[in-house]
Amino acid sequence: MIFEKYKRQIEVFGIDGQERLQNARVLVIGAGGLGSPVIAYLAAAGVGRLGIVDGDTVELSNLQRQIIHAGNLNENKAESAAMFVEKLNPDVVVDVYPYWIHPRNALRLIKSYDVIVGCPDSFKIRYIINDASMLLKKPFVHSAVYGWEGELSVFTGNPCYRCYLPESPETGGTAIVGATAGVFGAMQASEVIKLITRNGSLTSGRVLRGDLSTMEFFSFTIPANNNCPVCSGKLNGMFEENYTGRCEIKRFV
Ligand SMILES: [Zn+2]
Repeated sequence: MIFEKYKRQIEVFGIDGQERLQNARVLVIGAGGLGSPVIAYLAAAGVGRLGIVDGDTVELSNLQRQIIHAGNLNENKAESAAMFVEKLNPDVVVDVYPYWIHPRNALRLIKSYDVIVGCPDSFKIRYIINDASMLLKKPFVHSAVYGWEGELSVFTGNPCYRCYLPESPETGGTAIVGATAGVFGAMQASEVIKLITRNGSLTSGRVLRGDLSTMEFFSFTIPANNNCPVCSGKLNGMFEENYTGRCEIKRFV
């Protein structure tokens, strides 16, 4: 029955790949516009264990992009996502974390998972995910979207997200076309599946950018930063002060 369920993708990455997916533990941080396709495709693909972190509740203005929450207005998003996964693929074990990641719980949340998928809507949480993932040497699959545009990258060590953006720019707006989040979230899911089934990934240290209004995509390499406080190994733990203001690293130990 397992073979029947997944036979179309077993044709792509083999029964070995399917077994790796079944044994994999993936943590998705943020069950919103990006998290919706990530959770849907990873659950459908038969990832063995999915952790879902989100402290928000489903609002009416979320549903133009957060398609896994249909019918679940006012529910916590991690709990709503778990209900969706249960219907789509009851083989998947879901760990529900109905609260936000913060510097005090990040290492505990991340340490039990093999791959970390960042789908938050704030720079602060993105930096928390990056720093905790790098401290624990976990691959971090990143995306961010705005309007018709998005970016995608996979960080597995040096360089990391802080090499790319050492501190947060002015906070962006909230404009988003639902399909943009769908495209980039689906690409995050495919990067996770490639990492787990050992089918390569977007080369670590590259960023893919795309604009769906013109359908122009390009990628570039993040310049090497040997002084990066995080991936050069200088940072020794998670400290609240590194996630205030522009989130630049102020404290190392
Ligand atoms: Zn770095």
